[in-house]
Amino acid sequence: MIEDKNQQRTALSDLGEFGLIDHLTSQFKVSQKSTIQSIGDDAAVLEFKNKQIVVTTDLLVEGVHFDLSYMPLKHLGYKAVIVNLSDVFAMNAKATQITVSIAVSNRFPLEALEELYAGIGTAAKIYDIDVVGGDTTSSTSGLLISVTAIGEVEKEDVVCRSGAKPNDLLVVTGDLGGAYMGLQVLEREKQVFLVNPNSQPDMEPYSYIIERQLKPEARKDIVKLFKDLEVKPTSMIDVSDGLSSEIMHLCKHSKVGCDLYEEKLPLDPQVISTCEEFNIDSTTVALNGGEDYELLFTLSQEDYPKIKANPNFTVIGYMTEPNVGMHLVTRAETKIPLQAQGWNALNDQE
Ligand SMILES: [Mg+2]
Repeated sequence: MIEDKNQQRTALSDLGEFGLIDHLTSQFKVSQKSTIQSIGDDAAVLEFKNKQIVVTTDLLVEGVHFDLSYMPLKHLGYKAVIVNLSDVFAMNAKATQITVSIAVSNRFPLEALEELYAGIGTAAKIYDIDVVGGDTTSSTSGLLISVTAIGEVEKEDVVCRSGAKPNDLLVVTGDLGGAYMGLQVLEREKQVFLVNPNSQPDMEPYSYIIERQLKPEARKDIVKLFKDLEVKPTSMIDVSDGLSSEIMHLCKHSKVGCDLYEEKLPLDPQVISTCEEFNIDSTTVALNGGEDYELLFTLSQEDYPKIKANPNFTVIGYMTEPNVGMHLVTRAETKIPLQAQGWNALNDQE
């Protein structure tokens, strides 16, 4: 489907690998002080002085993690960067560099890759990171994108999954479930389109949740906000697989239990109305939807006054002694064990 939009089709073989890399990466400018040598040598050279360095990587595979029939390549490039930056921010670190590698089949012309790299370039600009390397190779089937992100953090500021204590507050940024419901709408419209290519869906009522799916943002602003508020979470993780599974990671690594309150889950009105339309339970979506790229963290109760009035944060529960276990406290005030049904990327392939 993407091919239809491109008037011009320049075969990748016309450029050769090095010509292609030069062509795609010439837009990237260096702005980080820690970037000593960027693209153009055998390796990038980075210098961080006294900082601790965080490194994270993600591999996105066509047909498993994205569907190009509704995911514009520009958005895909953007999202591939965002999902990695989100992991850097989840360490309370500042993102500084990325490398981008792609494997691509000959069904993609140069113009398609230009779109992809335009999205990567936009994300790099907005989040002020340098693209310092990568690789391009051929693929016999679909498109693969692997992004590695590098960040820096003062030793005393780094936040891991392992520091939560009983009685700490459990806090999440933004709202949950939007990306998952956006995906449901896109999947439905794809099916409608396959049956009736002339249908003109009105996507306006779903604008927020579709944006959450196609063009998510990572919470760079929250890392800065923590500094401004003089708050350091005791543990932190980003919400990529779904709230339940992320809470279970925090509990497991911190060796604590947790009570999560259903009535506290932050939901956008568009998520609620779309859940009603699809007859899906909004709590299930908030718990297991995934891809929200919000930050989930725990905070010592004495720091509560510092975040109390801030609309970015919702306290959704608190941590307990480990022997108590992990529970969802429902609106009816019954306690049910928390389960991670979060969409496991590997199970999804079946
Ligand atoms: Mg993560």
